[in-house]
This record gives sequence, C-alpha cells and structure tokens, in this order.
Amino acid sequence: MTTSELRKDLISGRWVIIASERSKRPDDFRRPVSCEQKDAQAGFCPFCGGNESKTPPEIFAMRNPGTAPDTPGWTIRVVPNKFPALTRGESPQRKIRGIFESMPGIGVHEVVIESPDHDREINDLTPAQIQDILGVYQQRIRSIETEPQYQYVQLFKNKGNEAGASLSHPHSQIVATPIVPKRVKEKIYGSERYFKRTKVCLFCRTIEEERAAGERLVMVNAHFAVNTPFASRFPFEMRIHPLRHSPFFSSAGSDELNSLAEVLKSALARLKGILSDPPYNIVLHQAPHPETSRKVWPRIDLIFHWYLEIIPVLTRIAGFEWGTGFYINPVSPEAAAKFLRG
Ligand SMILES: [Zn+2]
Ligand SMILES: [Zn+2]
Repeated sequence: MTTSELRKDLISGRWVIIASERSKRPDDFRRPVSCEQKDAQAGFCPFCGGNESKTPPEIFAMRNPGTAPDTPGWTIRVVPNKFPALTRGESPQRKIRGIFESMPGIGVHEVVIESPDHDREINDLTPAQIQDILGVYQQRIRSIETEPQYQYVQLFKNKGNEAGASLSHPHSQIVATPIVPKRVKEKIYGSERYFKRTKVCLFCRTIEEERAAGERLVMVNAHFAVNTPFASRFPFEMRIHPLRHSPFFSSAGSDELNSLAEVLKSALARLKGILSDPPYNIVLHQAPHPETSRKVWPRIDLIFHWYLEIIPVLTRIAGFEWGTGFYINPVSPEAAAKFLRG
C-alpha cells in the first residue's frame, strides 16, 4: 500500500514526493530539534546494537556466523525505512487530472546502519570497515536494479541535524525512484553535449585538468582523485572521482573500493579537523538503471562517469539562490583545497 504520491511541477518539470505517511502537524515544524535532543527525548536509539527489534525486519546484514537476523552480532545492517518516502510496487501508472500529473509513490527506501556503535562515524572506522559499507551499498543497488521499474537509485548520507539527519546514529540511505530525476537528466545531457563536441568524457577530462593544475586537488591515490570543483557552490565542497571511467558505481571492483575507502576516510577526517565536525551530506552521482540508461542514452557508457560528492552544511540556501539557481560561495575552491591539503 502506498500513501505517498509523486506530483509533477509543470513549469520546471520537477517531480515532488508528497509523503503523507510521514504526516506531521504544523507544530512539528515550529522549532528545530537536534538529533541528539530527539535521541535523548526518545531515551534510546533504534539503530544501536541490541535494539534490533525496534526497526522493521532486516533486509540484509553482515553478521557473525551463527547469529540470527534481527539480533545482535552484526557489523552492518540494512533495514527498510520505518517512514518511507516511497514504497515498493509495480511500475506506477501516471494519472492526469486537468493539467495536473501524478503517480503513486512507488519506489524503495532503505537505511544502511553503518555500525552497531552509536558514536563511531565513517572517519572513525578502519578502511576495511568502510570498504565493507561500500560493498553493501553496491550489493543493495544491484539487488534493487533487478527490478527495472526502479529507474534511478540514489545513495546518500545525511550527517547531523542541519544536514537533514533525524537520528544521530551513523547511517546512510538508499532511495530508488520510478522515474529519472530532472537533475540527473540535466547532468547526462550536459556531459552528452560535451561528448558530441569532443568525443571525450567530460569527467575524465576534468580529472586530467585538475591533476595537471593541482590548485583544487586535495589528494590522489591508486584509483581516486579528490578535488574541490572549479565552480563549487558551497565552501569546502569536494568531489571524489574514480580514475577509471564508468557510469555505474556498482562496477567498482574490490581494489577500487579499498582505494575509495581510503580517500573517503581521509577527506572526512580533513573536513572534521578544519571545520570542527560539521554536518555534511554525501551524495552518489551515477547513471540511472543500466537498462533505462542504455535505452534513453545509447552512448551512456561513453558519456557519463560516476562520482561522490561531499557537501559540508555551512551556508543556507536563501532568497537569491531560490530565485536564480545561482549560488554565492564565500570560500574559493582554491583556498578550500589548500586548507584541505593541510
Ligand atoms: Zn545508536
Ligand atoms: Zn570518464
């Protein structure tokens, strides 16, 4: 049963999820409450080891041999979101009423609990532990993509109340949508335009130029480069690019995941050091479901290149940004990279 609905804004072409099962009264929006306050009010954390019965039954877990599902003994645990924005189902039918277009809120909404320990964030884990988390992300994405009605899988992490986290326990989320989001299409069209002109992947070219210039480069290891983007929207925004070209995160092999774990740990530790533990978002950018991608963009394998984005939440989106889509960034990406290089 779905109680949420996707509605299309005709002017922008953007879809909105009206998630009524998360329904709140106006009172709930009046005063922001921090995750820590909420956790304290609730008195316990449903994601901590020992509280397995307080989440919906697990979908997947890395656990010690001989331990039963939904009991202690796990290191990473994946559960359905208790208040999902979208719910599993068949490919949704579009409804048209007058000029208004909508569809049932079909999709997937999962939570990856990164550790049973409440106080150990990603940068506190070992690279091997982080690699396991990355492997679980891939496993979940591949599993969701066995059902082609889920056209786009979005992996993200909200850390801290200001970054949108409602629980402070280290976790990330996976939301799969029944349509390709507008922003994803825009990125693919942008890289397709560049490819048409040059026959080169825009991302491969960017990595090459950033490595040559060096001024926005934060670090490079065997398989990844980290830099602050030339047109960074936010202070200390970082992109983590795989050096090997591929549109799909799931294509990364274990050597690459190991390398990614290293740079992710290091990038987050640098951020924490410079900005004293800021709230942040981590966002995966990859091509939509391979079947959809190859049907709509036959050259997707050549034109798109997956990457991760880390956005510390230090500034607010305000009137000018809402009106124009412009961003005003008070820290140059060159200065940010210099601080991050230390
Ligand atoms: Zn906890
Ligand atoms: Zn590329």
